[in-house]
Amino acid sequence: MMTDRARIGVIGMAVMGQNLARNIASRNIGVAVYNRTTEKMTSFVEEHGDEGPIIGAETIEELLDVVERPRTLLLMITAGAGTDAVIDDLTGRLDDGDIIIDGGNAHFEDTRRRERDLADRGLRFLGAGISGGEEGALHGPSIMPGGTAEAYGEVGDLLETIAAQVDGTPCCTYLGPDGAGHYTKMVHNGIEYADMQLIAESYDLLRHGAGLSTDELADVFAEWNSGDLESFLIDITADILGTQDPRTGEPMVDVILDEASQKGTGRWTAQLALELGVPSTAITEAVYARVVSSRKAERRDASSILSGPTPGGGIACDGLVDDVRAALYAAKIIAYAQGFEQLAAASAEYGWDLDLGDIATIWRGGCIIRAKFLDRIKQAFDADADLDNLLLADYFRDGVAEGQAAWRRVVGAAVDHGIAVPALTSALSYYDGVRRERLPANLIQAQRDYFGAHTYRRTDDDGSYHLRWIADGGEEPRD
Ligand code: NAP
Repeated sequence: MMTDRARIGVIGMAVMGQNLARNIASRNIGVAVYNRTTEKMTSFVEEHGDEGPIIGAETIEELLDVVERPRTLLLMITAGAGTDAVIDDLTGRLDDGDIIIDGGNAHFEDTRRRERDLADRGLRFLGAGISGGEEGALHGPSIMPGGTAEAYGEVGDLLETIAAQVDGTPCCTYLGPDGAGHYTKMVHNGIEYADMQLIAESYDLLRHGAGLSTDELADVFAEWNSGDLESFLIDITADILGTQDPRTGEPMVDVILDEASQKGTGRWTAQLALELGVPSTAITEAVYARVVSSRKAERRDASSILSGPTPGGGIACDGLVDDVRAALYAAKIIAYAQGFEQLAAASAEYGWDLDLGDIATIWRGGCIIRAKFLDRIKQAFDADADLDNLLLADYFRDGVAEGQAAWRRVVGAAVDHGIAVPALTSALSYYDGVRRERLPANLIQAQRDYFGAHTYRRTDDDGSYHLRWIADGGEEPRD
């Protein structure tokens, strides 16, 4: 379709930029596209130029020329140095009030810095995390925008139009200032890591612990997808387990090397949880599990040196499928509760005033962790916006209570049979930790005071004290 003006310019025509541009054009919104390597842009326009009002630009000047003013430019560029390079190149050429939206997976501190720097130059900047992979980008992703409310006011309609819609509500809403959007996207990815790890552990238990075939497992996951666990990740897992290798005819999962890669958002979530003092244990364990998986050569050597039970289909299958489903669901509740707690802590730390119910709402569709379950999370925050821990909401409290006997059996069986289930196990330990009024931290405080005079507080008196453990056993008050 011919057009000579565009409402928005997309810079970066890799898979995400291409599909977002097609998504925009499919709504009859004019979109100009540019890519550093021109050939990618021209072949895109050749292939998809007739799908809607798309203008190919060979140079940045051409792009800036055709985009309506104040201009809106969406960057879909490799996060980090690539995004900085593009922004540097753009700034001298833009006019006051133009808006740059970074749709890549930026670190939120980069977003804060860029927003500050660009504001100093009279430009407006939104850091908008986008989730949903290539399919989401094409048909409607979940979009998590942060920046000034004023800038969002100008582009919010467009972003909400191209986002996924659930029950008539767009999976995009203004989240808060500066890095709020990219932080939210990062935690989304962190939860995604935890969810995927929990699913992988469940698969491992049933496949290598109980000896189910991949075809049987495909049916199990399909069945799970019709209940509380209904979600994109469970759905694609059923599909994956039912897929055969086109070369050998073997189950596809059996020929895929067991080394998980990562691009960094899970690691950032774990690092930032530590900075905030929030126990995002399920996400952190998922990151560590990928690290252990990536040491294939080391594991190959260790497998013939280190002793212990070898998983060999020995777990009795009676009831195990239901137990694993219950364990997966309970642990998933923990992972989401921790992720939302991290968002609440970050919001307080950075003054974002994040609305956690809104975040649950925009994760219901378009994104990788989309799940039926998110409706329940939204309802919990609607009922109590200041909820400290999702686990304390009736629905989730009851869900874990119902599943926990099965969860304990599953973790016990995994330990007995030598199957590593770090996310299932640490989520259970977290649960048992938060529900204990008294933990063994009294002993830790005693040790700290013993070797370093770090003081302790007493259960029966106010103030801090130090005990002269070695000298005469006397106690002295400390400030
Ligand atoms: P990508 O491989 O992350 O990025 C490639 C694009 O960045 C290309 O257009 C490339 O141009 C451009 N680029 C890199 N460095 C550049 C520089 N110094 N100057 C100018 N252009 C530069 O592509 P992607 O997978 O489509 O992802 C785009 C962004 O979305 C990333 O930040 C990614 O993290 C995020 N994201 C990706 C997904 C996904 O499923 N793939 C999902 C959500 C978010 P050339 O063609 O010239 O090299």
